[in-house]
Parts: sequence; structure tokens; C-alpha cells
Amino acid sequence: MAYSEKLKAHRAKLGRDVKIALVGAGQMGHGFGCQVDRMPGLSVVLVVDIDPARITSLYKDLGVDDPLISSDPAEITAALNAGKRVGATSSSFLAELPIDFVVEATGVPEIGAQISYSCLKAKMDVAVLNVEMDVTIGPLLHKTAVDNGVIYTVCHGDEPIEAKVLVDFARDLNFEVVAAGKGKNNPFEPLSNPDSVRERATAKKMNPKMLCSFTDGSKTMTEMVALANTTGLELSKRGMYGPAATVKTLQDVFALQADGGVLDRAGVVDYCTGDVAPGVFVIVRSDQPYVSHEMSYLSMGPGPYFALYRPYHLASVEAPLSVARAVIDRESSLYAPHLMAEVVAMTKKDLAVGEKIDGIGGFTVRGYADKASDARKENLVPIGLVQNAVMKRAVPVGTLLTYDDVELDENSLIVKLRREQDAMGLTYAS
Ligand SMILES: [Mg+2]
Repeated sequence: MAYSEKLKAHRAKLGRDVKIALVGAGQMGHGFGCQVDRMPGLSVVLVVDIDPARITSLYKDLGVDDPLISSDPAEITAALNAGKRVGATSSSFLAELPIDFVVEATGVPEIGAQISYSCLKAKMDVAVLNVEMDVTIGPLLHKTAVDNGVIYTVCHGDEPIEAKVLVDFARDLNFEVVAAGKGKNNPFEPLSNPDSVRERATAKKMNPKMLCSFTDGSKTMTEMVALANTTGLELSKRGMYGPAATVKTLQDVFALQADGGVLDRAGVVDYCTGDVAPGVFVIVRSDQPYVSHEMSYLSMGPGPYFALYRPYHLASVEAPLSVARAVIDRESSLYAPHLMAEVVAMTKKDLAVGEKIDGIGGFTVRGYADKASDARKENLVPIGLVQNAVMKRAVPVGTLLTYDDVELDENSLIVKLRREQDAMGLTYAS
């Protein structure tokens, strides 16, 4: 049965809608709110954003005029209990409110950590559109959810999870997964910064920092690390290969080197440039000759490598499926049971002693994918931790930062939670 039917039955059983708080009403949050609110049995009753104009703009699209916008938890609680839809300009008291489900759509690792951790501890289900946070403290958040009997999930609609769906499909069908990944959407300009992309960002009505996190490769590295950590597949190599490929050549490019491809072994994540974007893919093989024969008969190519390809990912449009899946199936769409890979920080310019690091999509560093075991061996610091860190040593452009190079921001919750995660005794894949 489709979720739309199951959600109706759930509402009848509950006697009311599931009350959702949406934090962050930017492009992703706005799109998410517009979709989830139309699903039966799910209602956005609280929108949190520092900008009240974004709250009213989203509520307007939901058919709600003049919502109460407040920063007083008592007033907000009373309004929610009276069945009203409310806006809030602060998220600090979110965990105390009468809410069932929190959707975190700020995209900022530190804010995501504060909201996710406090709300999971308060036994609320939490869905995030914040893969940058997940690659930094995902295993700890999953454990916190399990300990509190609730769900922590990264939302459907982004490449790591839609590629994971293909990996699960392939594994269920007894295929060997040779490679899994995505097509990179924007041209790779590793040293780009918010100034160099500003004109393009303005034309696309995007935040320059956001566009820069795409062009400098941070986003692709982050997504492929999330894919490795959720599937248990290895990272192909530090920084990955990122070859050029097309929809037609995927299975030839992501073959083993002995067979003319780029890979030195099977079972890895990687990305490619070319017309595969905005899609995701899995390259599979079968050790059963008759299955390979059937695949060829079914127009999947001559084999032995076959590409399973989904040509789209629908971001906020399909992300609400993760709420339905959590509510109905009590299942997380994506979390990190493995620590296969890390997103570490590579300098985009020479950095001097005392210089402050501005985080993902900024002027100073870009995200770089590494095997978790190598990152640990070399004491590399995850990029999710370095916002507002101060340089202790001068380093040239193109350096991977270590914990010894920087003074981390000790007021940051994500820094504290990452230390907690490091003490959990996770097994690091080699
Ligand atoms: Mg994406």
C-alpha cells in the first residue's frame, strides 16, 4: 500500500495529524514544507527561521495568513495546544514544545547538531536535510535516537540516499556492487570562492556560499562519504577518481582497470562528470552466467558490467517520504552504521597563523573525501568541525588540515559531540 493510504489510517488511529516543526525556511525548507503539509495526516504546525519574512512566505503557500510569530516558548506552546500554526524566530526551546516530528533544514552543521541532539534526547523523531552534519556526527545521532526509542534520518531526495536505494536493490538481487555514485552537477573548480561564483549565484538566485560548496567539490565529496558510511562500501581512493562518463559509458568507465575501467577494486563509491547528473548510479556484476545473459536480453548491455541508473533526484520534492517512512514503518531512510570515510578540510589558499576558517563553501577550505582509517592515521580534522577555528600554524594552499594545525571553537556543540563519537569505539574500516 502507498504511504498516502497508510498515512490516512495512521491519522484515524492517532485522532489527529502528526505535528511537524520545520526549522529553516530557505529554498529546501520552503519546498519541503509545501510538500509535506499536503500529505495526509502530516501538518507543519511550527516554522522556525531567524527571518520572519521567510516564515510568512512559507505559510502563505500553505494557505495560512498572519501566523503568530513569537520567540516566547510559553506563548508558542499555548498557541500550538490551541491548534494554531505558529512561527518562531529561535530554535533554542524547540525540544520543550508539544511537537512530534522535527525537520531540520538549515544546512548548517552546528545548528543541525544543536537541534537534532536536543530533540532526539527529548524523544522526538528527527529528519534532516543536512548531510554535512551527518558525515560529521551521524553515528552518534543514530545511537542517540536508538537510545531514546526514536528515529534519526537523513531525508530522501539527495544523491546519497537515492544511490543507496539502488545499492539495496542490487544487493537484494544478489548482484555484486562494483561501484555506486552520482554525476557531479556543477563544473569542478576546486579553488572557487564566494566572490568567484557570485555573478553566477546571483543569476541563479542562490547564496554564493552554497554555490561555492558545489563548485569547489565539497558537496560531492560530502555526499559520496555519506553514501560510503550508510552502505559500507569503501571510498575508491582519497579524493576519488571523478572520471568523465556518460549515461551510455558508465559501466565501461566504472569497470576494473583490468577490464579497461578506472577502478583498482570493486565495492567502492565514486562520482563522475558528464551527462549522468542529476542522476545516481550503481554498477553491478553477477556471478551467475544465466542472470548476466538475462540482463543482456533485457537490453542492459553486453555485460559483464551493467549500470543501474536513476536519472533524477528530486530534493525537497521527495524528501517528505522520509517523514512518512519514519512515522509508518519506524524506519530511517539513511543513517551511518559504518565509518568508512570522512570529509576532511583542504586549504583553498595559503593560511597564516591566527587566520580564522570560515567553513564549507567559504574562502579558506574545501571538503575532501578520505578513507576514515587514513584520516585517523594522519590526524586530519573533519571540515564539519572547523568553522570559526583559528590557524595555529601557517600552511600553504592544497594542504589537508590536521587537528594540530587549528584551534577548534570550543563553544561549538558539534565539536563536543564529535569527541563523544570518537570515544564510542566505532570500528574504522581500513
Ligand atoms: Mg545533492
